Amino acid sequence: ESFQDVDMGEIIMGNISLSRYTRPTPVQKYAIPIVKSKRDLMACAQTGSGKTAAFLLPILSQIYTDGPGEALNAVKASGQENGKYGRRKQYPISLVLAPTRELALQIYDEARKFSYRSRVRPCVVYGGADIGQQIRDLERGCHLLVATPGRLVDMMERGKIGLDYCNYLVLDEADRMLDMGFEPQIRRIVEQDTMPHKGIRQTMMFSATFPKEIQVCLCFCRVYSRVYFS
Ligand code: AMP
Repeated sequence: ESFQDVDMGEIIMGNISLSRYTRPTPVQKYAIPIVKSKRDLMACAQTGSGKTAAFLLPILSQIYTDGPGEALNAVKASGQENGKYGRRKQYPISLVLAPTRELALQIYDEARKFSYRSRVRPCVVYGGADIGQQIRDLERGCHLLVATPGRLVDMMERGKIGLDYCNYLVLDEADRMLDMGFEPQIRRIVEQDTMPHKGIRQTMMFSATFPKEIQVCLCFCRVYSRVYFS
């Protein structure tokens, strides 16, 4: 019952210590090994359960161990086609979709904590705030993007974000995203031709409730593992 049970690499283990997390919460205990073994995941977990670290830790750990190899190099190569300085389209390796600005910012804060002293640069974009500033931040590099669906569609339409190398997709609070009417935007994002298809990409879905409508999101997953927490 410790974070040492799964080897997530030196950087992640160091950052877990810095964050003073001593013991994994139940959702972390079950979800981390599943994500590390590259399976898709559907988890029933509420805010406060530690679900954010449950997906961020294994994803960041995979990005550190698999990249700086393939994924990071692919991102670098694709960035160069847009010219050397600024105005570059970014190709995040991991995308986390969240329903609200507040949740997106919380996830981003955790991502910053766990990517400390690594080459992975997290970014966050959400609606209702100055898009110019968010674009300037993206242009400094973006490997892990936390986004609300509407603002991400806007960024894609402006040619600022490409999901061609997005190997990890997280749908956080999926029930709430559907309640808020984000289904068309989620479909635009996940079903575009350039997105790695579900045999390649790893998909994780978190939801507090499991109504029938959630199947909209489930079809984005391959065979998946389920973990339930109440
Ligand atoms: P979340 O459910 O992801 O929103 O996390 C709820 C709160 O618990 C956040 O403030 C986290 O920083 C904190 N937290 C998450 N995992 C742990 C852990 N293993 N030990 C201590 N605190 C944690």
